[in-house]
Amino acid sequence: MRKKTIAGNWKMYTDIHESADLVKALKEKVQNAHSALEVVLCPPFTSLVVVGSLIKSTRLKLGAQNMYHEDEGAYTGEVSAKMLTSTGCQYVILGHSERRQYFHEMNDLINLKVKKALAIGLTPIVCVGERLDEREKGVTERVVSAQVKGVLRDLRGSEIEKLIIAYEPVWAIGTGRNATPEQAEEVHQLIRKLVGQLSSWAVAERLIIQYGGSVKPENAEDLLCQPNIDGALVGGASLKADSFGAIIRAAEANLAS
Ligand code: PEP
Repeated sequence: MRKKTIAGNWKMYTDIHESADLVKALKEKVQNAHSALEVVLCPPFTSLVVVGSLIKSTRLKLGAQNMYHEDEGAYTGEVSAKMLTSTGCQYVILGHSERRQYFHEMNDLINLKVKKALAIGLTPIVCVGERLDEREKGVTERVVSAQVKGVLRDLRGSEIEKLIIAYEPVWAIGTGRNATPEQAEEVHQLIRKLVGQLSSWAVAERLIIQYGGSVKPENAEDLLCQPNIDGALVGGASLKADSFGAIIRAAEANLAS
């Protein structure tokens, strides 16, 4: 069974003091979370250690927002997979649309990062999704399929089933305009089918596919009850304990029903 996984992407928000305050407030909201639910916090690099120490012995897991694929070297400003695991990270977001848009990350580079993350035992949350102009041109399927094939290139089934794909339509990120549950479910089905073709149906069935893009307490339950939506990658609404807590409750409501 696929574990419903809710991850909070804090982006470039919160210094170490604000991160600590947010985690303390969040801990109260998730301490009794359903055991079939995985909750991951992805603070900025500078807050990983403090957040990691505050969530020890809780249900919360730690994730990073990016990494570089080389082990070490003269790569000023970059952070390696091993550096992340040394802080207690178990997850890493890779290929977020903001990385693609502002830092020109392409599928080939993201693929290298995915391989390195898997090799070291991190769970990559690999983001794919079309821009608004691509949706309007009717090429969503083509764009998302090319991204999925690119980021998963040369991976074995045993590796693919360990990662998470986050479908994040770019037009829905930070805009307040989420994909409808039907729009999201359609693309999630497509991704699962494609992974089945690239690997095997057994692998595709085990693959966790999150939806991301303006997930909020008001829309979370309808999105998360779709059969192929296995969780959410949450940006803005993960920065407030109340709204992230309410999204977690929505995911639980779904598990119980
Ligand atoms: C994100 O950053 O991955 C995201 C989905 O942001 P938001 O929830 O704010 O749209």
